[in-house]
Amino acid sequence: MVRTRIAPSPTGEDLHIGNVYTALINYVFAKKNNGQFIVRIEDTDRTRLVPGSEERILKSLAWFGLSPDEEPIRQSARLEKYKKYGEELVQKGHAYYCFCSTEHLESVKKLQAEQHQQPRYDRTCRNLQPQEIKSKLDQNESYVIRLKVPETGETSFDDVVRGKISFENSLIDDQVLLKSDGFPTYHLAVVVDDYLMKITHIIRAEEWISSTPKHILLYNYFGWPLPIFAHGPILRNPDR
Ligand code: GLU
Repeated sequence: MVRTRIAPSPTGEDLHIGNVYTALINYVFAKKNNGQFIVRIEDTDRTRLVPGSEERILKSLAWFGLSPDEEPIRQSARLEKYKKYGEELVQKGHAYYCFCSTEHLESVKKLQAEQHQQPRYDRTCRNLQPQEIKSKLDQNESYVIRLKVPETGETSFDDVVRGKISFENSLIDDQVLLKSDGFPTYHLAVVVDDYLMKITHIIRAEEWISSTPKHILLYNYFGWPLPIFAHGPILRNPDR
C-alpha cells in the first residue's frame, strides 16, 4: 500500500506555502494510488520550537482539505525509540559515542573557517578505545552519538525526479544522530520513523537532497529496504 507523509517542523508562525505544496503532492499521490497520507510533527529541535505552531499547521492543512488518514505522530513522544536505534548502531559499529566539549567543537569550527574549509567534525572520538569509552561513561560524561561515515567510496540513490544522485563519502560529515539531551537529530528520527511508519514514497523539496546520503547510509546500516525518493522544486517566498 502506498503511504506518503509530510513531516513539518513546528518552528514557524504559519505553515509555509512550500509545505502546503509538498503536502498537496503527497496527498494527491497517495489518493490516486488508494494509499494513505500521514502527517508527522518533527519537533525534536527544542531550541526552535514555536508555541502554537503545531496547532496552526494542523488547522491549515485541514483548511486546505489535506487532512491525514491517521492521527498525526509527534516525534517528541517517541524518544525511547530513537535512543534504542541509536544504541543499536553503536553496538553494530556504525556509530560512536562522542564526548567532545562545545569548546573543542567551536575551536575546530573556527580553525576550519580560517582555512576556508567546510565545517565538519574532526573525528576526535571516532577511534576511542573501549576502556576510554567505559571510563567516560562511568564518570557520567555527557555524549552524543555520531554516524560513522565510510572514509572512501560513494553513496548513491535513485531519485524519481532527477535520476541517480551520488555523493563522495569523504565529503560527508560524521553527523550527530542522538543529542546529549536524549533527543534525536532530524537525520536519525526521519529514517527511523519513515521505516516504522511504513512510508513507501518520500516526496519532498530538493533542499533535502544533500541530507539523503546520510539517510541512505542509515537504511543500509539498519538493513532496511529503501523507500522511493522524489525531490521536487522548492517554492520560495519572493525574498527567496
Ligand atoms: N522536518 C523536515 C521539514 O521541516 C522534514 C523534511 C522531510 O520531509 O524529510 O521539512
